[in-house]
Amino acid sequence: MPSVETVNGPVDTADLGRTYMHEHVFVLTPEVQMNYPEEWGREEDRVADAVAKLKAAAAQGTKTFVDPTVIGLGRYIPRIQQIAKQVPELNLIVATGCYTYDHVPFFFHFRGPALSEAIGVDVPDPMVDMFIRDITEGIADTGVKAAFLKCAIDEYGMTKGVRRIMRAVGQAHRATGAPITVHTHPGNHTGMEVKKLLCDEGGVDPTRVVLGHSGDSTDADHLSMLADFGFILGMDRFGVHVGDSTFEARCDIVVEMCRRGYADRMVLSHDAACYIDWIDPNIIAVMDKWNYLHIADDVVPYLQEHGVTPDQIDAMLVGNPRRYFENTKAY
Ligand SMILES: [Zn+2]
Repeated sequence: MPSVETVNGPVDTADLGRTYMHEHVFVLTPEVQMNYPEEWGREEDRVADAVAKLKAAAAQGTKTFVDPTVIGLGRYIPRIQQIAKQVPELNLIVATGCYTYDHVPFFFHFRGPALSEAIGVDVPDPMVDMFIRDITEGIADTGVKAAFLKCAIDEYGMTKGVRRIMRAVGQAHRATGAPITVHTHPGNHTGMEVKKLLCDEGGVDPTRVVLGHSGDSTDADHLSMLADFGFILGMDRFGVHVGDSTFEARCDIVVEMCRRGYADRMVLSHDAACYIDWIDPNIIAVMDKWNYLHIADDVVPYLQEHGVTPDQIDAMLVGNPRRYFENTKAY
């Protein structure tokens, strides 16, 4: 039986069940948190809050959360382990990789390829081995293995730092077979840049890649083209209602893509967190649908009322995630 690593150990892919492909437990800025911990408050309160929120999601029948929190987003696995132990009914799959829209973190600035020019020989990127170790040996000394890779490209496009990380992710992917999720900015057609760098130059098979945040777009023709390349489209910010991204807009593009025959190319999620320190808590309080329960409560019923079949819902929530975690041969 094919299996996938979770925080609580390996799980048969057949048992992943309903899977949200892009949820965070926490999104944090560790250096700020270490020095200004007032908003975070008591550690045990945050852990208890996360346990309660994850239990509520599991009570709806969701069985697996895929958490793409990596360097740049405040990944800290010991805390996640503590939470996962208390919610054994929910599988938590964690990631390795690096998240930036422009530069690499300073830790990497004068290492690896950054030195190549100065000394005239190609210096391998230490990121590649770090990512591979997270997948094959485990993260730090937690024993928890990452099961997928994450990187980002946003409105600034393919900057030097973004390119370096995406290349490292591509290399670690081909060495391990672990699938990839890329944070994209579909309004700027960054999926095309992912295709060029990761797939055309890096040899990565698009069917192994989720283009995260594709659901921010309502451009069905553009999304159809990306799906035709083989990419999996992350319709993964349900509940983020900002500007034109209304509840209906986010649902209607899924309806349209299903109508066009792409149910086997989409996955659903909220990109929510139990606590995210990137956003003023007063604003989060207003975003009352941005939570782990919204898809089951509101989105699935809306999709069904608008012609999406139970088989298509199943493909997006169960079949496609399972296929993503079974398609893990190195090459
Ligand atoms: Zn995210």
